[in-house]
Amino acid sequence: MVKKQLLLWTMFVLLAGCAVNPVTGKNELSLVSEQQELAIGEEQYAPARQSQGGDYVVDHELTAYVSLVGQKLAAVSDRTLPYEFKVINSSVPNAWALPGGKISINRGLLTELQSEAELAAVLGHEIVHAAARHGAQSMSKGMLLQAGAAGAALATQGTSYANLAQMGAGLGAQLITQKYGRDAERESDFYGMQYMVRAGYDPQGAVNLQRTFVKLSEGKQQDWMTGLFASHPPSQERVQNNIKLAATMPKGGEMGIARYRAKIAHLLKTKPAYEAYDEGRKALTKDETATAGRLAQQAIALEPKEALFYGLMGDVEQEKQRLKPALQQYYKATQLNPDFFYYYLQRGKVEEQLQLNIQAQSDLERSVGILPTADAYNSLGNLAQRAGRLNEAKAYYVKVGSEGELGEKAYGALVDLDLKDNPAKYIEVRAGQDAQGRIVVQISNPTPRDIDRIVLILQARNAAGKVQKLRHNLKGTVTAGSQKIFDLGLTGKLTQEQIKTLQAGIVGAQVAR
Ligand SMILES: [Zn+2]
Repeated sequence: MVKKQLLLWTMFVLLAGCAVNPVTGKNELSLVSEQQELAIGEEQYAPARQSQGGDYVVDHELTAYVSLVGQKLAAVSDRTLPYEFKVINSSVPNAWALPGGKISINRGLLTELQSEAELAAVLGHEIVHAAARHGAQSMSKGMLLQAGAAGAALATQGTSYANLAQMGAGLGAQLITQKYGRDAERESDFYGMQYMVRAGYDPQGAVNLQRTFVKLSEGKQQDWMTGLFASHPPSQERVQNNIKLAATMPKGGEMGIARYRAKIAHLLKTKPAYEAYDEGRKALTKDETATAGRLAQQAIALEPKEALFYGLMGDVEQEKQRLKPALQQYYKATQLNPDFFYYYLQRGKVEEQLQLNIQAQSDLERSVGILPTADAYNSLGNLAQRAGRLNEAKAYYVKVGSEGELGEKAYGALVDLDLKDNPAKYIEVRAGQDAQGRIVVQISNPTPRDIDRIVLILQARNAAGKVQKLRHNLKGTVTAGSQKIFDLGLTGKLTQEQIKTLQAGIVGAQVAR
């Protein structure tokens, strides 16, 4: 992932230039071309949504409505972009925009809003972030690169999938969790209200919205702090700015209170189901499987069309080692929502345990196609290894990386498979003289396996310039994650010139049994 970002960065530098901001009309440094903005939005939109909980698909009319309001605002904005608006299936109150006009709002924010004008205020604000190139500017300034891995880790906080290593959402994760800075926020509030008025809304909606945010931030609910408020700090100043601006704007715009209530009626009615689900997820992370199961059933009774609830039920069954019932729950989940990575991943892992190899392979590949995760790559590696497709297994384990518990597992499996063929890739050797003048080598073993039967090639030049090579077997084990010094027993046998030019390379090693 790091490598990929560096590559992108190089691209930006090459294309450096100045451009007029389509919203503010100001001239500014721009290292990201419009073409790149569009490409980033296009590439990152789907994985970013998946990593936040996937799309909310139970009530298609609601998504259509949010999209309609969004497109109405987009049509009067200062920049034509391929705008899209989606509702994410997460209770965390949040909304975000990717470059190129790819915008999302969470289910958990929709239930806090009181009117269509407030919804327009949220979407208008996000439209400005995209139209005024705020994300692209952060990239130009290199702010995202500095955020690095921290940004990716943040993105899954507060979601139910925080424990899954996200691999496909690196740049997108940074873009949707970044702080744009006060100027960008002020700009988004200001122009967002202009778009509201142009689209026929009462700008009072933006005032009400900021008031609600301030009130909620005083309560400091955990969900809010990890969601919207992390990237959009609310303040009394923003309320005041909006009040002042609204006073200068034409009256007679629409609030759309009744229409908004009607559109979110189903979501409001089923809110207790999602609350039970969220509690159930928390219970499961604390290993309270009985409570989690009861809450999942409660959620299903209140909203039988929601796939997430069957996903939780599947996780509960899996936790209880009831693998076949778990499969049935995941199957129901994929029937209700075939587009969320999580159910395929979980089903694939259970099938892997049940040795249903073909099904597992197909489900895990499908999950990776939607959102790549270390979990899926690790299981795919295990399957390939079991089938004797060792090169394929190695390739999957490499993709898992070496971070975290899963990374260590996969790294260990990779060392088991590959150490014999490529020992120098995993352990290091340095040759030299110790304080007593003995000729020694230091072996570093950063892997999670104990390693022995290490074979070295020693190479040195004599006074005549002739290179001599010597094969040398080391006796003893270098334990996982440690270093060890070996006396080569050559003291007194080499000339000063040979010692000075001594080099060692590793040509053989095995995992200790
Ligand atoms: Zn903002």
